Amino acid sequence: MKVIKSIPEVREAVKCAKKEGKTIALVPTMGYLHEGHISLVRIAGERGNFVVVSIFVNPLQFGPSEDLKEYPRDLNRDIMLLEREGVDLVFAPDVEEMYPEEQLATVEVKGLTEVMCGAYRPGHFTGVATVVMKLFNIVQPDIAVFGQKDAQQAAVIKKMVKDLNLPVEIIVGPVVREEDGLAMSSRNVYLNSEEREAALVLYRALKKGENLLDGGVRSAKTVIESIEKEFEKEPLARLQYVYICHPETLKEIINIEKGAMIAVAAFIGKTRLIDNILWEG
Ligand code: AMP
Repeated sequence: MKVIKSIPEVREAVKCAKKEGKTIALVPTMGYLHEGHISLVRIAGERGNFVVVSIFVNPLQFGPSEDLKEYPRDLNRDIMLLEREGVDLVFAPDVEEMYPEEQLATVEVKGLTEVMCGAYRPGHFTGVATVVMKLFNIVQPDIAVFGQKDAQQAAVIKKMVKDLNLPVEIIVGPVVREEDGLAMSSRNVYLNSEEREAALVLYRALKKGENLLDGGVRSAKTVIESIEKEFEKEPLARLQYVYICHPETLKEIINIEKGAMIAVAAFIGKTRLIDNILWEG
């Protein structure tokens, strides 16, 4: 497994692989890998035969009061985990490699970024779309794999690829959870033991909503109210939003149909967590 920090070297390695007829599958990450990331690496391995994992904590997608400095990092451990998975190439650039000067060209996906997390994290999805565009241009993958955990991100990237005719197939892998239901996230390390327990409210509330739908309820208002109630019972949690929408257009749904997504964001203490479920009907 090659670990490369420079853009020209990545281009060269991918060029060689393409010459050999390989299908390039990219998994973009910010590192501090967990089973959620690994599940995407495995999907990439099933769909392609030259797997590239990028590890880059992208400053462009963090707001001024967000956790860029504290974001957990452990490149050596990540490399060990990816080696074990048979990954071909790890691209782990420094900030200077990705942004040698002020980044003036950005990618904005309008319409999808004003709702949900976008409403509370101005500029975040432009930062995400811009770095993913850069990674696509550097690695030139045939396939790129993202997680449903970051549902709005997946929707934004799919729309960017569609609208800008990018020659890459986007695959979205399901949310991987801890045994008790908490969605895996690099940010879970911020939680102390009380908060870790309290964080279960996200999945519990989503499941409550899902149960209502399974029982025949179709009103988004009813589902939203029941989710809000569940959060009210958890003193360490502060719900930021609950939103029911189409998973690709992110258009709000009033009368719920099969395929709808219920998404929540909440602070548990100082840690902001997100989660969602797709209701398959
Ligand atoms: P991150 O390192 O948090 O930027 O995540 C990198 C990729 O892994 C993104 O496509 C995420 O959606 C995905 N991911 C993060 N957590 C999970 C999870 N629990 N299950 C599935 N995919 C995930």
